[in-house]
Amino acid sequence: MAIEVISRGHLPENDQFEASCSNCKSTLRFLRSDGKLTFDQRDGDFLTVACPVCGTSVNVAANKGKPPPPRPSR
Ligand SMILES: [Zn+2]
Repeated sequence: MAIEVISRGHLPENDQFEASCSNCKSTLRFLRSDGKLTFDQRDGDFLTVACPVCGTSVNVAANKGKPPPPRPSR
């Protein structure tokens, strides 16, 4: 019997994150796969990206990701 998908999920690396740069105040949107994931048992895992505007490291909590918007149906 084929495996049936009852409720379709999404890959965690496609989660979208938004964060603002503390240095230049740019607002950034990126995918989990764009950031570097750091495991932190005490404060919680977080993602780090380099701000494309000024290069400052921007951190965002790894559990703040949102699923990607649904693809338009054909
Ligand atoms: Zn910046």
